[in-house]
Amino acid sequence: MKPDSIIVTCKACNTKNRIPAERMGDKPVCAKCRAPLDTKNTADAKPVEISDATFEKDVLSSKTPVIVDCWAPWCGPCRMLAPVLDEIASQYKGKVKIAKLNVDENTATASKYKTMSIPTLLFFKGGALADRMVGVQPKKEIESRILKMLQG
Ligand SMILES: [Zn+2]
Repeated sequence: MKPDSIIVTCKACNTKNRIPAERMGDKPVCAKCRAPLDTKNTADAKPVEISDATFEKDVLSSKTPVIVDCWAPWCGPCRMLAPVLDEIASQYKGKVKIAKLNVDENTATASKYKTMSIPTLLFFKGGALADRMVGVQPKKEIESRILKMLQG
């Protein structure tokens, strides 16, 4: 499966439809029976847990842009940001990957990217750091940075 398209199984006839990520919001219909496809509850698009060991593979080598959420279990603001990132993970499924990095357990990556305070969001595109946001941010602001990254 290409990262820029998603397979959606038609609930009416079981045909598998390949939907480009950018069409997911356009109420796609089944190619065979024209039934509307449910694009909400398909393949999970939850944030993925990453670590120092998987950073290279999960972030730097990712074909899709990645937002790394640098967090820690004791951090209250990080918990406030978590549901927003869950929503973004579903909404931008196939376009942007959300990765969660526990900075207490993965100090090498945290210090390499100078995450002085958490939560910090690191935006990676093509293996390079493209942007960063520090602190709890409104969803709208995060989305505008995502769009900037996708266009840039
Ligand atoms: Zn169908």
